[in-house]
Amino acid sequence: MSRTVTALFREDFYLSTCEASVTAILEDGGIELDQTCFYATSGGQPGDTGFFEREDGSRIPIVDTRHGATKDVIVHVPADGQAPLKFGEKLVLHIDWPRRYRLMRMHTACHLLSVVCPYPVTGAAVGEEESRVDFDMSHTIDKDEVTAALMELVEANHPVYVQWITDEELAANPGIVKSKNVRPPVGMGRVSLVCIGEDSSVDSQPCGGTHVSETQEVGAIHIAKIEKKGKENRRFRIRFGTAEDRAAL
Ligand SMILES: [Zn+2]
Repeated sequence: MSRTVTALFREDFYLSTCEASVTAILEDGGIELDQTCFYATSGGQPGDTGFFEREDGSRIPIVDTRHGATKDVIVHVPADGQAPLKFGEKLVLHIDWPRRYRLMRMHTACHLLSVVCPYPVTGAAVGEEESRVDFDMSHTIDKDEVTAALMELVEANHPVYVQWITDEELAANPGIVKSKNVRPPVGMGRVSLVCIGEDSSVDSQPCGGTHVSETQEVGAIHIAKIEKKGKENRRFRIRFGTAEDRAAL
């Protein structure tokens, strides 16, 4: 049985709802569908939450979305104690859009940070309130200067868009990968390159996550902290709002 799912979130980051049919129900309760707008945990971005609406109007809360054995498999995790779904059942999917949009803004902010700090990325985690990016760098840098450079990129309102390239094209241009330990999402035959600025003038980076379409949508962000994690590692923490707003809380 083929269980390849159409991952609609890869083509449209702003798709918050869609229809789908149940293609498999796993032993642990996980639900697989023929297509989905729910992003599955990957590349430091957490999976979507939300709910499925059944034909009778009842709702199944979804608490997580993750990949199965391969990236072709997407498993939706329902809250405990839900009425079982039926194979082939038609559903309307709804992601928790305010949460996802915050993650998209934060994820895009992480890309901007890698432009401002052009060092190899050794790790990243996108969060709703705070994100962190670890860089392989040994010198000290002023967080307010980084914030100012980030906000300059946000306010310039650069376009953010995806360009698909083949695995072979990526292999021929290894220089476009900034992540040191994070492997680009290869293996599906094609890789999404996230480009910022006209003709990628600001940045381009392989990434399978979801992003906003213009940098202005990121809104006010600031670097809350830069921590020293070992001799050659710096951990940057990005938060929403201005540093001044936060201090006033
Ligand atoms: Zn990304």
